[in-house]
Amino acid sequence: MISSAGQRPPVQDDFIPFAVPSIGQEEIDEVIDTLKSGWITTGPKTQTFEQDFRNYVGAEEAVAMHSCTGALHVALSAMGVGEGDEVIVPTMTFCSTANVVVHLGARVVLVDVGDDLNIDVASAADAITGRTKAIMPVHYAGHACDLDELYALAAQNGLNVIEDAAHAVGSEYDGEKIGSRMLGPAHLDGSDSRSVVAFSFYATKNMTTAEGGMAVATDEELVSRMRRLALHGMSRDAWKRYSDKGSWYYEVTETGYKYNMTDLQAALGLHQLRRLDSFIEKRSEYAEIYHEALGGIDALQSLPIRNNRRHAYHLFPVLVSEESPLSRDELIDELRDRNIGTSVHFIPVHLHPVYQREHGYQEGDFPNAERIFGRLFSLPLCPGMTESDVRYVAAHLADTLQR
Ligand SMILES: *Cc1c(COP(=O)(O)O)cnc(C)c1O
Repeated sequence: MISSAGQRPPVQDDFIPFAVPSIGQEEIDEVIDTLKSGWITTGPKTQTFEQDFRNYVGAEEAVAMHSCTGALHVALSAMGVGEGDEVIVPTMTFCSTANVVVHLGARVVLVDVGDDLNIDVASAADAITGRTKAIMPVHYAGHACDLDELYALAAQNGLNVIEDAAHAVGSEYDGEKIGSRMLGPAHLDGSDSRSVVAFSFYATKNMTTAEGGMAVATDEELVSRMRRLALHGMSRDAWKRYSDKGSWYYEVTETGYKYNMTDLQAALGLHQLRRLDSFIEKRSEYAEIYHEALGGIDALQSLPIRNNRRHAYHLFPVLVSEESPLSRDELIDELRDRNIGTSVHFIPVHLHPVYQREHGYQEGDFPNAERIFGRLFSLPLCPGMTESDVRYVAAHLADTLQR
């Protein structure tokens, strides 16, 4: 159990990294099989992975990409976002959510977040202008945004929604997986709004293909445009061109990107997806241990969790409270000295030099995000940790903060 005052916490020689991927023998065998198969880039395994993935999240269509960043970029591009348009992005996110908007020549309209670090829907509503084309909510840490409110706002204003679900594969909102709920003509909501949900399979995410991502959507035209844009804007993909049934002919119908997923990545993804629920169970068990420990540490607080959510616990963020004898930075150093790796998610986008220099943002713009950021860090959490690793971290948090 967690050490109480007077009891020395355990000592551990090995560094506990912030996160490591869990790769099993099945993944290794599948990668070797792919290497020996003669087809290593986009092909049959990518297609199977797309089918399995859309079955898992309950989406109609899925397009595999080389990253979540690529999926976000292609989604905006397929929706026609470009110069003169505005896109609303929460400032508390990884830079790629905002960068892709800039790549398309549109304006990034940053907004503040609520105390769960998800986009503040009222701030998003205030930021809507005649030029607003889309909102990009981020399901921070794997804790879903309020999709009822966001989708209503988008539908009322004719806006598209691109969900950055980099943390949220396996997360649920109101009993539905993130990726299953969509805006679009198929949903007869009477608006022109459409949506895309983009997932990440980066090395540290809840499931990994080393690098990788997936865009899911229902709107057929949007899906075929994303597929085309992810492969140069060509009208047919390489597999179809060169397989027995294909022909050499293709047309470039618009200037696209090179964002396709390889079968080597898909080989990893096929097995990671099958193990995803067990990964999330482990993450949730460990999160429970952290929650219990934090209950006894006044110097730390966890973030609020709303009703009707299945948290995927991609991250376990904590806030250093006013009572803490150590600042956030001092605590991170102290934990590192005790062989515990932590991280900070995220430095708000508006505090990065390029967003200040080129996009007019400055310190003070988003008080809630800034106030939280100064006290925020993430505890190590991944299924590759042992329960004793997690208890070691919990014990040392208590020991560090309650001397
Ligand atoms: C990891 C991450 C991304 C980018 O994912 P990639 O697959 O590495 O491109 C985007 N948004 C958020 C919030 C992330 O954490």
